[in-house]
Amino acid sequence: MSQISRHIHINGIVQGVGFRPFVYNLALKHNLSGWVRNSASGVDIEVTGELAFLSIFQQELSTNAPPLAQIDTIDSHQIEPQPSEGFQIISSEDQDTAFIPISPDIAICGQCKAELFDHNDRRFRYPFINCTNCGPRFSIIKNIPYDRPQTTMATFAMCPDCQKEYDDPQDRRFHAQPVACPECGPQVWIELIPGKKYLEKDDAIRDSRRLLKEGKILAIKGLGGFHLACDATNPSAVRRLRQRKNRPAKPFALMAFDITSIRKYVEVTEEAEKLLTSPQAPIVLLNKKYTPGIADEVAPGQSTLGFMLPYTPLHLLLLEPEPGYPDAFVMTSGNLVEEPILHTNQSAREKLSGIADAFLLHDRPIFRRIDDSVFATVQTEPYHFRRARGFAPNPIRLNQTLPQVLAVGPQMKNTFCLTRDKYAFLSHHIGEMDNWETYQDYQKAVRQYEELFRIEPQAIGYDLHPDYTSTKYALERSTSENIPKYPVQHHHAHLAACMIENGCEPDAQVAGFIFDGTGYGTDGTIWGGEILIGNCYDFTRFAYLKPVPLPGGDVTFQKPSRMALSTLWAFDVPWADHHPPVQALTNLEREILKAQLNNKLNAPLTSSMGRLFDAISSLIGIRQTITYEAQAAIELEAIADPNELGYYPFQMDEDQIIIKPLLEAILADQNNGVSKSIIAAKFHNSIAHLTIKIARTIQEKLGISRFVLSGGVWQNRYLLERTLDLLHNNKLEALIHRQMPPNDGCVAFGQAVITSFRYMNDKE
Ligand code: ZN
Ligand code: ZN
Ligand code: FE
Repeated sequence: MSQISRHIHINGIVQGVGFRPFVYNLALKHNLSGWVRNSASGVDIEVTGELAFLSIFQQELSTNAPPLAQIDTIDSHQIEPQPSEGFQIISSEDQDTAFIPISPDIAICGQCKAELFDHNDRRFRYPFINCTNCGPRFSIIKNIPYDRPQTTMATFAMCPDCQKEYDDPQDRRFHAQPVACPECGPQVWIELIPGKKYLEKDDAIRDSRRLLKEGKILAIKGLGGFHLACDATNPSAVRRLRQRKNRPAKPFALMAFDITSIRKYVEVTEEAEKLLTSPQAPIVLLNKKYTPGIADEVAPGQSTLGFMLPYTPLHLLLLEPEPGYPDAFVMTSGNLVEEPILHTNQSAREKLSGIADAFLLHDRPIFRRIDDSVFATVQTEPYHFRRARGFAPNPIRLNQTLPQVLAVGPQMKNTFCLTRDKYAFLSHHIGEMDNWETYQDYQKAVRQYEELFRIEPQAIGYDLHPDYTSTKYALERSTSENIPKYPVQHHHAHLAACMIENGCEPDAQVAGFIFDGTGYGTDGTIWGGEILIGNCYDFTRFAYLKPVPLPGGDVTFQKPSRMALSTLWAFDVPWADHHPPVQALTNLEREILKAQLNNKLNAPLTSSMGRLFDAISSLIGIRQTITYEAQAAIELEAIADPNELGYYPFQMDEDQIIIKPLLEAILADQNNGVSKSIIAAKFHNSIAHLTIKIARTIQEKLGISRFVLSGGVWQNRYLLERTLDLLHNNKLEALIHRQMPPNDGCVAFGQAVITSFRYMNDKE
């Protein structure tokens, strides 16, 4: 039989996911000789054998690939016949400009979990157990190619047993870079006084459990950063955490040992269970059951709780059930308000000593901080709220090759985005850019992504808002590196993000219902209730909420009651003594407000949909002052009656949406004693109906039939599902975000694609 040789190159997520041992075993199975190696741009394979076997081999490369691998392309060509002497895994090769996607951090797998609780296993109760299919990746990788010396595991020398597993292609830990055991790997310890080791290893875990059970607050070093943890069934523990963290109401995330424990407190649908138990193991927002147990203080005013499952062996050991032991724990980010999540032992000791009663630490450094991801489900599919652990730095795949550009993202819920080839590397959640710490972290992260993925931006995209920190960063870099810059209107970025994510052509015309909090408009006012027509090059404003004043800017942001009165004022609806927002403010406050409105003093105009939700929440007496973003709107959604189908009217004045009839109808309902949950529901339904009505007009007038829904308001699932149902019933095609959040976490992606297409146009 004649032998032939082939060279095969594979692109995609193929490093750190057990791909080389898979290739090795596949080659042995089919009697092929040659080698496999990681390169900086994927995996290279050279194989020699009989043609028939070679073809099966190549087929099975994609059909039987390891669970975490994501193959983008397989290129293969015949080469000169090679001498055949067995099959080998050879060492990695680095190339300067090539690149390869990197695997995100992955939750502990079933096999490792079984070993963790197996008395006879040498890693019994070892908190850093991992394998080729699970464990830390992105959070410990300093550079590529992904090999142990380039990770924070570099300082741990493997013991002979671990080395044997690492070197054995038949072993499930073959080349698992973070491989470790109690003999040679990282260890945990607990500090009651910061800086003083109190107990270590199993004793530290036992003591942590004792403290948690007693209602103490623990700072726990996890995978991508610190958590603050306490017993979620203990109201005084949760209250204490709220006081110390200075976080009065914003919901806390929860962790429970298994699905059964979660099911006790919330409704877990089939699709939610799939998400919870996925290798990404995100936080999933689930509808509360009305069973007692979880302290009300965990998520006041909410109809949902955010749960996740333990995704590291350490979490499993801390949560392992035992009679009398709590079955749900608060696991909230270990940070100070609006600052990035802490990820080093020293910074946690310094910043969290006023909050935590004890510190459970370990000596495996976290190179890159990364938050937990947050999801909901919408129409039985996952829907992103925050994209971080388990997802970043997976790229968003594109239909066309893009130039290398940097998009710097917005001010709030910042992410940035870098493009090259057919990939958009949308960063993990960075956070609020007006915070100095966050901005420091941001600059570092941008440079790290550029280095990891070998990207040298040829153009920079940024938000129109002149005062955004990210805008300043973009302008500085554009000047110092002498590369062209492209300002992108905030809501245009939302539209482009949603259309490209859904595979539309960049020049296809779509209509965008961009319902958002704030964004700088082309006319210098604050936009946010926008119906835009456009594509990746340009857009027009088809319709928008008639602007109302935002007196005092930030003050009104914090006080929905001011927004409610300003909205009534703008539509000539008189304030009355019995209106909840009137009662929420003192006489003096109202006098000042009225003066600001009449004199147009420090009262910028806004068409924001988010502010309209605030105003209505206040108007019907739900929330007058907020302590976290979107609180008023979230509480309004939480009480809306799902069975109510009624809605309120609105009018159009050319391209302006006039909500005066809606306001008057709400006040009439209120006077007639209609309940808050009915009014809240009718208000939500009104926005859904408004959307459909305008969508039908757009279809009739312009022949556009695709509608993208983007902007933070679409995190409102009541509104979203109603709108999707109505669009569907009217045979209108709705496109929503599935790979990134609808909130400002998607803006950088939109900036990136707009910048890329404009830049390519300019070069022609
Ligand atoms: Zn594993
Ligand atoms: Zn070892
Ligand atoms: Fe936005």
